[in-house]
Amino acid sequence: MSKQTHSFQAEVKQILHLVTHSLYSNKEIFLRELVSNASDACDKLRFEALDNNALFEDQPNLEVRVSFDTEKRTVTISDNGIGMSADEAIAHLGTIAKSGTREFMAKLEGDQKKDANLIGQFGVGFYSGFIVAERITVETRRAGLGADEGVRWTSEGTGDYEVETISKPGRGTDVILHLREGEDEFLKTWRLKSIISKYSDHISLPILMRKEKWDPEKSEQEVTDEWESVNKASALWSRSKSEVTQEQYEEFYKQISYDSDAPLAYTHNRVEGRSEYTQLLYIPAKAPMDLWNRDKRGGVKLYVKRVFIMDDAEALMPVYLRFVKGVIDSADLPLNVSRELLQESRDVKAIREGSTKRVLSMLESLADSEDQAEKDKYAAFWKDFGSVLKEGIGEDHQNQERLAKLFRFASTHADAGVSFADYVSRMKEGQETIYYITADSLAAAKNSPQLEIFRKKGIEVLLLVDRVDEWMLSNLYEFEGKTLQSVAKGAVDLGKLQDEEEKKKAEEVAESFKPVLDKLKEALKDRAKDVRVTTRLVDSPACIVVEEGDMSGHLARLLKQAGQ
Ligand code: ADP
Ligand code: MG
Repeated sequence: MSKQTHSFQAEVKQILHLVTHSLYSNKEIFLRELVSNASDACDKLRFEALDNNALFEDQPNLEVRVSFDTEKRTVTISDNGIGMSADEAIAHLGTIAKSGTREFMAKLEGDQKKDANLIGQFGVGFYSGFIVAERITVETRRAGLGADEGVRWTSEGTGDYEVETISKPGRGTDVILHLREGEDEFLKTWRLKSIISKYSDHISLPILMRKEKWDPEKSEQEVTDEWESVNKASALWSRSKSEVTQEQYEEFYKQISYDSDAPLAYTHNRVEGRSEYTQLLYIPAKAPMDLWNRDKRGGVKLYVKRVFIMDDAEALMPVYLRFVKGVIDSADLPLNVSRELLQESRDVKAIREGSTKRVLSMLESLADSEDQAEKDKYAAFWKDFGSVLKEGIGEDHQNQERLAKLFRFASTHADAGVSFADYVSRMKEGQETIYYITADSLAAAKNSPQLEIFRKKGIEVLLLVDRVDEWMLSNLYEFEGKTLQSVAKGAVDLGKLQDEEEKKKAEEVAESFKPVLDKLKEALKDRAKDVRVTTRLVDSPACIVVEEGDMSGHLARLLKQAGQ
């Protein structure tokens, strides 16, 4: 085929324009995209070769090579993957077949201000090469076709491109970027290497670059003819558990979290089924400084088939698990997924639910462990992260029950570590309610006159002294069918715990005190809703309670402090 000129599909022209104009501040991603295409091409070859081993020709080792030529001012990304026939080059590099594109462009055009940001979140694939290149030459030959059936595709990324037949002995694709004026930074080994390690370290194929050697005469690095791998070529999470040591897991955690301590716990699983993904999730040993910032994005990195997509993909974890670090590698999501699309994706929802369950079971196995060391780990976790976990009660209704089981409190029985289950196991004969009191501090809670009757009867009361407890209680009404009841609200009903004798006596006393009560009510008219005789006190003469359903005294104080 002699040289032919083709026009880009209209959408391609628009994308090219948008990409080259709005993506400049993030231009280095061109390398991620082209390396990822090279890696995809190798994956495709591997797949097709399952049925036709001859496709490997005499080159069974799949690899990607990145090189540059300082004189010609070119950067070349080569692979020995599947390659493209002339028709495929025309179809794949001149038109856009994917359905996400229209949506992508609609968003780009819809809100001009968001453009640069939005486009940065999309992998814009092959066309991102034009951010740094004034001309791209693609030389490719499909595996299985003859050496003379190679194709050269050339374009300046404006209106059209040229295609001609060439001879190409090696199968696969070379993408040659003729750099624009001022883009010489990409003609340096260290620069290219650092981009590769930033984005493509976890590509499972070797990415090779020419070795450099110090030239003492010129006093500079010289590029040699020898190739070396510049990535690890195997993502930690894609290996099987038995191949990874605890040290490696911990080292990897430190790399991704910038934490100098080892993690408290981790979980590594490959999930198959409707949604296919690998998760490697860590719980840090200590709370970060900004734990309280609910706007902070989560700590989970998203990969799609081992290609890095984004850091802190908040859609992968509920907000109350924002302290979890790790990697989720999806086999289903498109490479060009944006944060916005993540929020809407059903695959992501499945990943989020699955990962939440994993984190909860990781915590459960610490909390329920027979091993004291593990139990201590849970206590340490609870101390640092308990308050955040309580946010889950409102946020994650599906897991309310599991979360509630993980909670630990102080009570009149023990100063810390009391779970709802512990409480329930110690409930008195006939007790149907879980009693609690909220206060600013443990001392205040313990000294509350409201507790007198409970002490006297030996009934345990949970002492809730965390700022978020009030909020948590506004979303949690019961545990395993037992209602939660504040001892400081309304007329505490001790139900069957109160004997008939006492009840009758109390009623008689109330009757005889009626004149006194009336006087008190009159005197406290503007300050108290009601004045009642109570059986809840033993030693103290009087106490203040709030009406059932009203804001508790403690919450009212908290809000006042917060200036509301
Ligand atoms: P995507 O990779 O998401 O499909 P790209 O714009 O990156 O989108 O690439 C478009 C298409 O061009 C690819 O789907 C593939 O068919 C083809 N292509 C790009 N690079 C290569 C390559 N190195 N080898 C073979 N085919 C390629
Ligand atoms: Mg691509």
